[in-house]
Amino acid sequence: MNLIEVKNANKKYNNSVVLNDINIDVKKGEVLVIIGPSGSGKSTFLRCINNLESLDCGDVYINGEKVNFKNNNSKSVTNVGMVFQNFNLFPHMTALQNVMAAPVIVKKEKKEEVKERAINLLEKVGLKDKINCYPSKLSGGQKQRVAIARALAMNPDIILFDEPTSALDPELVGEVLNVIKELAKEGMTMIVVTHEMGFAREIADRVIFMEDGKILEEDIPEIIFSRPKHLRIKQFLQKVI
Ligand code: ADP
Ligand code: MG
Repeated sequence: MNLIEVKNANKKYNNSVVLNDINIDVKKGEVLVIIGPSGSGKSTFLRCINNLESLDCGDVYINGEKVNFKNNNSKSVTNVGMVFQNFNLFPHMTALQNVMAAPVIVKKEKKEEVKERAINLLEKVGLKDKINCYPSKLSGGQKQRVAIARALAMNPDIILFDEPTSALDPELVGEVLNVIKELAKEGMTMIVVTHEMGFAREIADRVIFMEDGKILEEDIPEIIFSRPKHLRIKQFLQKVI
């Protein structure tokens, strides 16, 4: 069974079409990478999967269960983690408190149990010595690794990454990509929006090229990066690589 299925996703902002009949499915353990120019609807698509925004029509199924409902009737999708470009950490909380917040507040888990798990997760992302630091004392790469630990703390079935390294200084990109690669190796199901094409090629089981709210081409990385069917994709790749 597919872990995620998106059927005929459509969305407009004002009168402009942002998602134009998108269909995808992602199996357990699969890494789907989405590439495409700025403004093509990639972030909107991820936010609709996570129910941070609603579709005009179409459906999102996670583990076979419909999760999107309109009119603020949205279910909180706790089994889908999300990592944003700008980290979105709580500035008044330490790294440890950031990682503990959702399981304690949303899932009402016991603080002591969550604390142990949170420390282990911060150790996993290489930040055991930073657990009591506030975000303002962390580098961008460290902040993003806290954000990844925070997503993992909810024990998600899938994690969505929206350009997780775009806000980082170039020398900090590698440490974040390495953590994501490690998760992929462990079998985490992921959808990753990225402009890091070498990383995309390495990590992806499948790649989608999005433009103007549509999927222009979907294939294995070898095809998309070496022999895409669309000239448009070749041109895009020449510009970004
Ligand atoms: P990408 O992530 O591929 O750069 P986005 O999903 O952010 O694309 O944006 C797709 C289009 O939707 C863009 O034209 C953008 O200006 C527009 N858009 C995104 N968010 C909003 C919003 N909240 N209100 C109105 N328009 C938006
Ligand atoms: Mg975006």
